[in-house]
Amino acid sequence: MTDYLKLALTGVQGLAPYPPGKPIEEVEREYGVKNAAKLASNENPLGPSPRAIEAMQAAVKDVWLYPDGNGFNLKSKLATKLGVSMDMITLGNGSSDILQFVMQAYVDKESEVIFSQHSFAIYPILTQMMGATAVVPPAKNWGNDLDAIAAAVTERTRVIFIANPNNPTGTWLSGAELEAFLAKIPEQVIVVLDEAYFEYAIAAETGANGYPDGMQWVDRYPNLVVSRTFSKVYGLAGVRIGYGVCNPQLADVLNRVRPPFNVNSIALVGAEAALDDTEHLTRSVSINAAGLQQLYAGFEAMGLDYIPSAGNFVAVDLAQTAAPFYEDLLREGVIVRPVANYQMPTYLRITVGSEAQNSKVLAALKKVLG
Ligand SMILES: *Cc1c(COP(=O)(O)O)cnc(C)c1O
Repeated sequence: MTDYLKLALTGVQGLAPYPPGKPIEEVEREYGVKNAAKLASNENPLGPSPRAIEAMQAAVKDVWLYPDGNGFNLKSKLATKLGVSMDMITLGNGSSDILQFVMQAYVDKESEVIFSQHSFAIYPILTQMMGATAVVPPAKNWGNDLDAIAAAVTERTRVIFIANPNNPTGTWLSGAELEAFLAKIPEQVIVVLDEAYFEYAIAAETGANGYPDGMQWVDRYPNLVVSRTFSKVYGLAGVRIGYGVCNPQLADVLNRVRPPFNVNSIALVGAEAALDDTEHLTRSVSINAAGLQQLYAGFEAMGLDYIPSAGNFVAVDLAQTAAPFYEDLLREGVIVRPVANYQMPTYLRITVGSEAQNSKVLAALKKVLG
């Protein structure tokens, strides 16, 4: 038989699939536990807004029709909310779609793509997929070292990924730092500012030198793509919807790469209704803030170090190889994320859950650490 791996494109041959968080049912089946707490994928413990659920339920009867391929209603709502024009918005099947469109449109095997050490796992996967070269400057204080990233730009650089806040470390960059960085990057290099945790960070890190809203720069920097998602604070990870905002010409390019009907009709109405429910958003953000404090206090009581986070997750240092404890926690019915693949072998990344889930993970951690 033909070797279909060898036949695949060089970049594809070297791909390793993205390791997702273990599903609840799988853990319950394999470990014989009940009511497992999944704190592995940064989902909102409250779930989506009840208004989003209602809208999605009502839309089920129309699933025989193709969705609006241009997502007119959602885009116009987003445009108003974000203060941008509709032709600057690209909708994605999750925001990871947007990251992929940028890569497909601008990167080939001659290209270099820059992202920080300890940054989101999708960036190296997409780079590998395109057969491009990953340039990975060391992190500074667990986050993006913007000077090192700017210094790494060459004639071959096509794309730079910056997650703010960063996943899995939760570190964040101020507006002044990011603006100085954007001003330094040549216009032909696309900067993707990945704001998957925007709503959490903007609420937590306020003040003069606080967390910035990337939308303020999309008019000034034509090479900037700001991406956001409904998977995290809006609790819609399962229906897959996110978006990118950038200058209209670049958005037109992304729109050409975008497969037709990439966003389904259920997700479109769910996202729209979710945007209307500011009360659910506020509640989600405040439960997260309290949950972070609960986890920090628990870690401190156990003498564990952690990286303070602007997101809905926290990386905790077990000061020894974390993989066996990840397994032990599964047996206790708690699913967290080992991050050895992020060069953080002694850390676990724990999503902030409900108060009860946070107590459960802290108690389980205490038990397995002995
Ligand atoms: C979760 C996450 C995303 C987005 O995921 P989608 O579900 O595809 O929207 C993007 N970037 C980072 C850093 C994330 O953590």
